[in-house]
Amino acid sequence: MSYQIIDGKAISEQIKEECRKKVVAYKEKGIEITLAVIQVGADPASSVYVRNKKRACEFCGMNSLSYELPEETTQEELLTLIRKLNADDKVNGILVQLPLPKHIDEDLVIQTIDPKKDVDGFHPQSVGALCIGQPGFVSCTPAGIIELLKRSNIEIAGKECVVIGRSNIVGKPMALLLLRENGTVTVCHSRTKDLKEVTKRADILIVAIGKPKFITGDYVKEGAVVIDVGIHRNEDNKLCGDVDFESVAQKTSAITPVPGGVGPMTIAMLMHNCVESVELI
Ligand code: NAD
Repeated sequence: MSYQIIDGKAISEQIKEECRKKVVAYKEKGIEITLAVIQVGADPASSVYVRNKKRACEFCGMNSLSYELPEETTQEELLTLIRKLNADDKVNGILVQLPLPKHIDEDLVIQTIDPKKDVDGFHPQSVGALCIGQPGFVSCTPAGIIELLKRSNIEIAGKECVVIGRSNIVGKPMALLLLRENGTVTVCHSRTKDLKEVTKRADILIVAIGKPKFITGDYVKEGAVVIDVGIHRNEDNKLCGDVDFESVAQKTSAITPVPGGVGPMTIAMLMHNCVESVELI
């Protein structure tokens, strides 16, 4: 069966370009957009993400303020910085790169960010708003997946949508967004009995399980759309996803590759959220 490869790189570039144009239009009205990025410690993966986020800001014409704090930063010092940025009218978005060192309570940090500046969409108020269909920031990875589907002309309404994974940043908001788009949604997790039986019902299968190449062809219905959220490095140091692309792709009508699928969408949607934040401040 021939299948479509959903090009997340191209779609993310489209979205960033749209953001860039909106930023130019805001600038003409004298409005600047500023994202504050906070990193605590020097985790190498986090440093790469932070660098890419700053680069995307630059591309879109937004300002980025960078706070690279030492590993031993206390929780109170971090909360004080967040409160200062909350009060600063020039700052539109605040992003604290996760994970944080163990001595800092992540939930408390997220709750301290002003929901109007919560461009990651992790604040309980943002999540609650999503749950009851009110405006607010939406977690970037699942929001990016909805954009991938829409811009690839894949209809969600009325479809059997199965999400594997129930994390707060991917699985749960993903399920809520698919529901908002009128999908019929099932969420699977580590305690799901007979995962295969459930996933084989899916017209749209979203895989955020965090295990390399876990989903093979026998989990997938003929003609399904498969979205792979996972990012791992295999034995040869090559990137791979939660889906075994070789065995799955042939069965699908459309599939995201890794790299070049969901990954680039996360930062594009962060830029989108920063642009949106202007309306909220
Ligand atoms: P997580 O580890 O928090 O959650 C994994 C989920 O999978 C859990 O809810 C768990 O219940 C479920 N699960 C585990 N084993 C299972 C099994 N055998 N059967 C069914 N369900 C099972 O992970 P996460 O933060 O949601 O991330 C998932 C993947 O997506 C990871 O590979 C991560 O690296 C990747 N990720 C990518 C992006 C991106 O920008 N592309 C963003 C976030 C996460």
